[in-house]
Amino acid sequence: MTQVRTRFAPSPTGFMHLGGVRTALYAYLFAKKNGGKFILRIEDTDQERFVPGATEVIYDTLRDCGILWDEGPDIGGDFGPYIQSERKSLYLPYAQQLVEKGAAYYCFCTKEELDERRAAAEARGEVFKYDKHCLSLSKEEVQAKLDAGVPYVIRMNAPTEGSTSYHDLVFGDMTFPNADTMDDMVLIKQDGMPTYNFANVIDDHLMGITHVMRGTEYLSSTPRYNFLYNAFGWEIPQYIHLTTVMRDAQHKLSKRDGDAYYSDFINKGFLKEALVNYLALVGWNPGTDQEFFTMDELIQAFDVRHLNKSPGIFDVTKLEWMNGQYVQKMDFEDYLKMAAPWFDKVLAGKGTDYRRLAELMQSRTDIFSRIPEKIAFLAEMPDYDPAIFFNKKQKSDETVAREVLPQLLPVLESVPEWTEAAIHDAVMAKIPAWGKKNGQVLWPMRIAISGQESTPGGAFEIAYLLGREETLRRLRASIAKLG
Ligand code: GLU
Repeated sequence: MTQVRTRFAPSPTGFMHLGGVRTALYAYLFAKKNGGKFILRIEDTDQERFVPGATEVIYDTLRDCGILWDEGPDIGGDFGPYIQSERKSLYLPYAQQLVEKGAAYYCFCTKEELDERRAAAEARGEVFKYDKHCLSLSKEEVQAKLDAGVPYVIRMNAPTEGSTSYHDLVFGDMTFPNADTMDDMVLIKQDGMPTYNFANVIDDHLMGITHVMRGTEYLSSTPRYNFLYNAFGWEIPQYIHLTTVMRDAQHKLSKRDGDAYYSDFINKGFLKEALVNYLALVGWNPGTDQEFFTMDELIQAFDVRHLNKSPGIFDVTKLEWMNGQYVQKMDFEDYLKMAAPWFDKVLAGKGTDYRRLAELMQSRTDIFSRIPEKIAFLAEMPDYDPAIFFNKKQKSDETVAREVLPQLLPVLESVPEWTEAAIHDAVMAKIPAWGKKNGQVLWPMRIAISGQESTPGGAFEIAYLLGREETLRRLRASIAKLG
């Protein structure tokens, strides 16, 4: 049996779209599941769409996700080069072979001529398809133009009748009428570069790709590629078309909404492990109710028969939940390292004990970008409504606070060393003498120094994190506020 070889073939046009990451992931999982090879190929023949730096973004993103290629531009392999622009010179001879076989032909029509005929077709309400004008040139006429250096493209001589059928591993048997899906598409452009439509066939063949995984937008182009494979007499690969990753039933993920790119999510503080885990489940299911997967577990579980035919919905709320689950399970030191820059956004330079803060925050973190809003009260005392001193369960209200807070002030002022334990011991020692329940002191204390009902940690933790000076300052301000 031949070894399974899959590839991810992105065009370096910018950031990595989540749909692209998922395509790469599935191609990787499928190869690894079958003991095969996963190849990375950079498709940069469309130089106008090329964005500098985009290739590095592809490498970095895939590596970050743990989607590692066995052959590729930066690591080489037996079928290189793996960047299409570096393969430029090898495509023309293949196109010439097709010309010999009558499956392709030289076209010398100028842009102006084509524009004119396109405009005329549109005026007739027709969609312009190249009209095989140059197919009628004799061999001698073609040679004369080539000798004279007339610019040319090479076009596929597409069938105008009949239909093409193929089997897709997700969508089953597909049939397309040739007249609708084929045209005399350009194979080699004037600049000598192949088009995507040509290069993907040549490269998938030369690189021994056995299974082609790509988006459903290529379902209807596949007959053209099969025409080329057949013209060469090459074996056609297996096709696995993947549905689009959608935000909801109507909307695609969009750049504008900041939910299209891998980096959007990393910048918002999602964990790459959670993102990869969740992405795997958008459009595929393991056939069990398992939701959490390591990469190795995904490899074990992956089965193309469980790829969905309907678009995958990328549910951010679900991802946030899953991310939270990953955060809870994170090694504490890793959490601290990742959380620190988010702490810095509001607490930089304040000398807050980040380690203690991280202990309090880890269980309260779903995505890291929400940390600053959750700890903003540590940086600045929020203005609050004294009504929040009321708490039925804690038997606290404004009156209790007005009584307790002035008693608390000298106690805190005289705490010997500002540690959580010392603050705790000093306050707790006084409560019985004041004839109060713990909640009647601790609730008002927490409100008075945090300005909010819900905080990570209780009164002692917050007092400790704020430091003596700031705690006392806030307490005095709250006493004054209550009058
Ligand atoms: N370069 C194409 C793209 O980015 C690749 C499609 C394919 O996998 O063949 O859409």
